[in-house]
Amino acid sequence: MKRKRKKSNSKKEVSFLKEYNFEITVFVIFVLGVFLLVEKMEITQTLFKVIKATIFLFADLIKAIRDSIYDALGWIELSDLVGVILILFALYLIALRIRIRLLMLYPKNTECQYCDNKNKLKRIRKKLKHRIIHFALRLRVYYYQCDNCYKKQLIIITKKR
Ligand SMILES: [Zn+2]
Repeated sequence: MKRKRKKSNSKKEVSFLKEYNFEITVFVIFVLGVFLLVEKMEITQTLFKVIKATIFLFADLIKAIRDSIYDALGWIELSDLVGVILILFALYLIALRIRIRLLMLYPKNTECQYCDNKNKLKRIRKKLKHRIIHFALRLRVYYYQCDNCYKKQLIIITKKR
């Protein structure tokens, strides 16, 4: 009987810890905060100094960024801005054109374009330019090599959304 009681007691303790885990943690943090405030220890002052320095550093950084943005805005004139927009628009149109041409030039083919061996294409590692096409033009690029004639060929298709 005694044993049983003891066992249930320890179980109760565990469940108490589990149940009031949050309260205990908060209490410890609270006590620690009070301790740091009341105690005029160096650690408190150092901590405050570090926090103060950090805040000032951030403030200075934000000021510096703001000033540089103002400077840049003062520098750019409206005509420059229009020029930049026109150039970007032209580049966008060129990219669209290149995209359509690439899609027409490298259609989806599962067979070699150079010899008549069917289904003998093997996927190989893409080159850097293929990766650039993939990222810049948002296209799926596949690079294959024929098992028979060893000629390489590209397949370019649109990305699925
Ligand atoms: Zn081939």
